[in-house]
Amino acid sequence: MAAKPENAKDLAIIEQIRAEKPFHYIVQNLESTFGEPKLSPKSDALAMLIEIILSQATSDANSRRTFQNLKQQFKNWESVLAADESVIADAIRLGGLANQKAKVIKDLLKQLKEKHGKLSLKFIEKMPDEEARDFLQTFRGIGPKTVACTLLFALHKEIFPLDTHIFRIFKRMGVLPEKISDAKAHRLLDDLAPPGKFYSLHVNLIRLGRQICRPREPLCEKCPLIEYCDYGLTKI
Ligand code: SF4
Repeated sequence: MAAKPENAKDLAIIEQIRAEKPFHYIVQNLESTFGEPKLSPKSDALAMLIEIILSQATSDANSRRTFQNLKQQFKNWESVLAADESVIADAIRLGGLANQKAKVIKDLLKQLKEKHGKLSLKFIEKMPDEEARDFLQTFRGIGPKTVACTLLFALHKEIFPLDTHIFRIFKRMGVLPEKISDAKAHRLLDDLAPPGKFYSLHVNLIRLGRQICRPREPLCEKCPLIEYCDYGLTKI
């Protein structure tokens, strides 16, 4: 479900972007180039949230192994909460930034216990998309991208995650202004991404950012989005 624009000005901005950048065609062009990625089946949201925290600043393979290490070392989330941060850090050392991630995980579990009484996020499955997003955003140390990835990947909720590739692409295209907060950009994309295509758009934009719209010297002549891109149109 799309987010509600905060005011008339936001609504006008969204309508203008929609008119200039037709997202259905953007999705279609990306799928013609990269295929249509499919979501994995729904899964446990708390496990996904912790897996995403562990995935920061490391490779996918390392992050998977780090999560497995954590699961092997502790029999449940209660025992992670009861452990010293240094013990959690030792279990997740492989994925880097271990002390920092251990602190975030322990603090997350502590907050969840305080707010909900038990270490489970099962109850957010039934919440409307925006309500689930707003609830997760109340947790210290958990940013909008982590919230969006958790809700989209684990529960298939239509909350759009933006990473550095996607920010770069949308700024070059003129979808996002140069200066915009993380939270505001996420909310804007919740409105712009076509229903049913959040995951496809997210994954294919990351592919585009890695292969074509690279940080330096983007390959605009090969880009499937050039006709909708302010920067690309200056190149032809
Ligand atoms: S046209 Fe160029 S700048 Fe625009 S999205 Fe494509 S690669 Fe990036």
